[in-house]
Amino acid sequence: MNTAALPPVSFSTIPARRRLVLRFALRRQMEVSGTDSTGREFSSANEMWREEIGEDEAAGSDQTKLRDWYSKGISYWQGVEASVEGVLGGYGCVNDSDVKGSEAFLKTLLPLRFGKEKQHLVAVDCGAGIGRVTKNLLLRHFNEVDLVEPVSHFLEAARENLSSNSIMQEEETHKATNFYCVPLQEFSPETGRYDVIWVQWCIGHLPDEDFISFFKRAKVGLKPNGFFIVKENIARGGFVLDKDDQSITRSDAYFRDLFNRCGLFVHSARDQKEMPKELFPVKMYCLVTEKPQKGGNDARKRKHGNRPTIIKS
Ligand code: SAH
Repeated sequence: MNTAALPPVSFSTIPARRRLVLRFALRRQMEVSGTDSTGREFSSANEMWREEIGEDEAAGSDQTKLRDWYSKGISYWQGVEASVEGVLGGYGCVNDSDVKGSEAFLKTLLPLRFGKEKQHLVAVDCGAGIGRVTKNLLLRHFNEVDLVEPVSHFLEAARENLSSNSIMQEEETHKATNFYCVPLQEFSPETGRYDVIWVQWCIGHLPDEDFISFFKRAKVGLKPNGFFIVKENIARGGFVLDKDDQSITRSDAYFRDLFNRCGLFVHSARDQKEMPKELFPVKMYCLVTEKPQKGGNDARKRKHGNRPTIIKS
């Protein structure tokens, strides 16, 4: 069962005893620093990371434990069917509202960051699964989309779904260009290739140190005014560790602390609406590399600065 990569708790498909345990874990989130999917409590994230990957401030992480962490995550996904239902943890029904929510957020950001004139836009879909986000959302707005996905049967399904399937949008071809079979902790983008780096329902697989180094490397892949979208499940407090797929669901405060440590700024954030009540809430963050200035530093806001203004003497 997977908590970080969406539908954290598909209660209908798991045994009753585990259902109770998970409910307990969710209820306890507010009161403790962290829990795992068996209901065990941790007093801090450090305590949990020490145990899971042997992470220590001074010595760094234990490489064997870290490798185990990642290989358990990959094994989990290798056993999942390459379908929308599969990548959404049995909640294929949220696909439409997810896409709608993402599109509304993206549509406010694109003109703000890149202006209204037509441009050749390029995005990368990180932890892309079978290319659900690329197909339903990104290809409608970007001329090229690259996919990064470590599980080969997902990436092959994405290739089949997308590569022969370039779409025409306002007389331009939009297509999936590159398919990279690598995990995010090993991905380094080409310098300055992307307008948007989209990270959805997968970053919970990266422990904090790899989370930070991924975003630091990925920043180099952004074009001027480019930005990240991080769309993830949100724990109500602290974190929830899922022992089955080795992922962590972080709270809003936990995410914001990590973004800060990556040298990224939250330009804007929005809650995903219409999610089933039993699931974690989902949030979208737009992250930028420059500190938002007073009055805004977006393309459109800069234009407003050029409008006729009375000179005060
Ligand atoms: N983002 C897609 C898929 C979500 S399912 C969507 O919203 O439809 C979670 C995905 O994360 C799976 O495809 C899984 O293979 C991928 N994943 C697991 N570990 C990862 C890692 N270390 N780096 C990148 N992706 C990972």
